[in-house]
Amino acid sequence: MSNKLKALFEPKSIALIGASSKEFSIGNVIIKNLIHYKYKGPIYPVNPKEDKIRGLKAYKSILDIPGEVELVHIVIPPPYVPQEVENCGLKGVKAIIINTAGFKEMGEEGLALEIDFLARAKKYNIRIFGPNCQGIINSDPDLQAYCNFTFTYFKPGSISIVAQSGGVGAIIMQVLHDMGIGMRLYASNGNASDISIPEIIRFYGDDEKTKVIILYIESLSDTKEFMDVATEVAAKKPILAISAGRTEKGAAASKSHTGGLAGGITMELIFQKAGILSFSNLEEICHAAVAFSSQPIPKGKNVGMITNTGGPAIIATDELVSGGMSLPPLSKTAIRNLKVTMLDAASINNPLDVVATAGASHFKSAIEIMMKEEQIDSIYLTFVTPPFVDCVSVAKEISAISQMQKKPIVCNYITDKKNWKETTAILDEGGIPCFDYPETAAKALVALSKYNDLRTREKGTVIRFENNKGGVDKAKAKIIFAAAKNANKEVLSASEVYQILEAYNIPIARWAVADSVEDAVTKAEAIGYPVVIKADSENIIHKSDVGGVFVNITNSEDAKNVAQLMKSKFNYPDLKFFIQECLNDRLELIIGVKAEEGLGHLIMFGMGGIMVEVYKDVVFKIAPLTDVDTKDMLQNIKSAVLLNDFRGKRGINKEGVMEILQRISALVTDFPEIKELDLNPIFANTKRVCAVDARIII
Ligand code: ADP
Ligand code: MG
Repeated sequence: MSNKLKALFEPKSIALIGASSKEFSIGNVIIKNLIHYKYKGPIYPVNPKEDKIRGLKAYKSILDIPGEVELVHIVIPPPYVPQEVENCGLKGVKAIIINTAGFKEMGEEGLALEIDFLARAKKYNIRIFGPNCQGIINSDPDLQAYCNFTFTYFKPGSISIVAQSGGVGAIIMQVLHDMGIGMRLYASNGNASDISIPEIIRFYGDDEKTKVIILYIESLSDTKEFMDVATEVAAKKPILAISAGRTEKGAAASKSHTGGLAGGITMELIFQKAGILSFSNLEEICHAAVAFSSQPIPKGKNVGMITNTGGPAIIATDELVSGGMSLPPLSKTAIRNLKVTMLDAASINNPLDVVATAGASHFKSAIEIMMKEEQIDSIYLTFVTPPFVDCVSVAKEISAISQMQKKPIVCNYITDKKNWKETTAILDEGGIPCFDYPETAAKALVALSKYNDLRTREKGTVIRFENNKGGVDKAKAKIIFAAAKNANKEVLSASEVYQILEAYNIPIARWAVADSVEDAVTKAEAIGYPVVIKADSENIIHKSDVGGVFVNITNSEDAKNVAQLMKSKFNYPDLKFFIQECLNDRLELIIGVKAEEGLGHLIMFGMGGIMVEVYKDVVFKIAPLTDVDTKDMLQNIKSAVLLNDFRGKRGINKEGVMEILQRISALVTDFPEIKELDLNPIFANTKRVCAVDARIII
């Protein structure tokens, strides 16, 4: 598949249908860019009315071009595109970038044109990039293909970018360019009618000169393919990604707590599962990419810090520590050696303050000794350029050591770049990731370390429950789901829900459903007081919102009164009384599920009860859950300490909670028709964990 994209990313010749001599036109700018960037192959402008464009011979038709044409840009209006694709087919073109906009994104007519040109492309085995897109760039010195109408000309490097939006792509390119960082490949594929983001990621994955991938994504058309490709590539090289639209989906209407809380989180979970490093901010992703492009990945979280000034190092330490990193003490040997090599005023510790008067030999020795420390995985450097020090020599030593690529180095470089040009150039050429701010430098190092966590993460195993005998009774659940579907139900009744949970051995408080007031009293007596009585009807979603939950009913008279009250209050034909044992001494938890198209289900865990939307202390994972997933979920909520013994209060049976998570994961895997599911609350104490309220929507 990848070699299919070779014609796109490594074209031997390029034609442009719609080339123009009008200066402010896309058909002109692309030619200008190809020439300016010194494309190594032939460029063929195509325009029926012109003889020459930007000094190049123009052709009346693609079919008139004498030589072979591998890649074509099409920039003419939509109605003419299908015919030109056909001509490209006759010419033997391999790939087409359709820059023109006005297709699927414009409605029916545009969609019809898109379908038309795709069919023609398929007939001739041509791959289509776009439409409604910027194009690609390949900075390889042997090729220098700037097949794009944007404006940042970058030098060769090892960062490759794929951005669904050309505007975001332009920001990333420009930021990196301004920092003097090179790039390798660039792609912004607009409507992605044929060549998809996963395909591009795979191509970058196979590209030896790409060391790190930056991905900007808004929506996925094939989640499964993305997940598979990204997982494969992320295991080989870092993928740093940022997605937008996180808040947009948050307000989506939903019938469950889980559905309401899940808004906008899916992409984040997909990144997590695939092993992609996720960012929420363009500046941070660019800075991290700079570090990834030149530095090795640290093996752990321990940083050795070297500085020739105080304050910035303190700020950096705070940032590193809040990013989960630490500054371990130095070994006795290191301290002994540093005492010999450092200036008297140096503070020998971690952070190691070499002091402002330190010269090249001091920096060299400091970095070498830190590099040798087994407990140190990476080096953080603060380097201010004192005018009384030979900074050029310092920079040379830093660069020389960094080139050995033993452990990653990042640097907060504090200088006037105009006056310290030579020093700056040496650090640049040495590939030292230099940042103006301590926070920025520290965050880049945290990102390197987080990627190491991702790369080495334990995935765990999914527990398979046997059919029956404490396992699961899939057949029984199947009958209930089938009956509900037959009855055209969307929200399952309490008795259906509880029978399904019973079939999957999910512990629930003792319960019964009563049809009449008398029946309610009889069943309350059978369960044993105190009981809870809840109104059960398809018309009631959140029972306590409408006063449909009465807790702590201690005798038959009260039970009768409550049932009577409910009957007059909720005058629904399907009204039933749901009687349940009343539980005390507990923590209220929630476990929920939300179906996500093309992906399966998201499973949620957190602090439950009627306040769940207020505290929003919940975490999500993609089903099926592994044992490692469930452990992470319990650890990652903000109130995790409350699950353990805390200030005289006993903790809860965590194993029990994790087992429910596993069983819910099995249930939704067996029944993809489940749209949403809430177990809220689940009551948990030291021994017992059981659900007292459940809802399933199909
Ligand atoms: P809904 O979520 O539809 O409003 P619930 O069944 O979750 O209704 O009940 C609301 C609240 O009532 C729960 O969060 C819990 O605090 C309390 N409650 C419900 N069932 C029980 C029970 N069996 N024992 C004790 N308290 C309960
Ligand atoms: Mg509830």
